[in-house]
Amino acid sequence: MRELPVELPVAEWPWAVTTLAQAAASFAWKRARLPGVPFVRWFAADGARLGQLDEAKGEIWLSTELADNKTELLRTVGHEVFHATQHRDHALFNEKSATYAGDRFLEVWDEHIADLHAKAAASGVAREPFQRYFAGSAFDAPFDPLADLKLESRRPHAARARYAYE
Ligand SMILES: [Zn+2]
Repeated sequence: MRELPVELPVAEWPWAVTTLAQAAASFAWKRARLPGVPFVRWFAADGARLGQLDEAKGEIWLSTELADNKTELLRTVGHEVFHATQHRDHALFNEKSATYAGDRFLEVWDEHIADLHAKAAASGVAREPFQRYFAGSAFDAPFDPLADLKLESRRPHAARARYAYE
């Protein structure tokens, strides 16, 4: 078992790209027909790796080194999700194929985003899928295809039924 990185405290996660990373990972995961939803966690740049898969838990770890490099971030997500499919298929981890899959995922993601843009335009709402979203902001647009992927919706301050008891 490879050693997993040490997780950063959530307050230190790179929030500018956390939503993108989670959305891309969930999209790639679903596209690969892997079960459930992967959880993206962050570790401090260690100079040794950009990402790692926890295949037992179905979690993808990303280095904060990726925070200001979206291309490399997406490539890493595609790479790690490919490893998840290798794990599912009981295949040996193959770096060459994973690297190719990472490159390919860049194109797939671009197509996916272009498709979302087209749908948004068709619905009359011109919002870009990843524009003007900041963690903690009230994001109440009527059209939000990725709403179910946002970490924010799983936080305690998410809206609740008014008279709910817990
Ligand atoms: Zn790899």
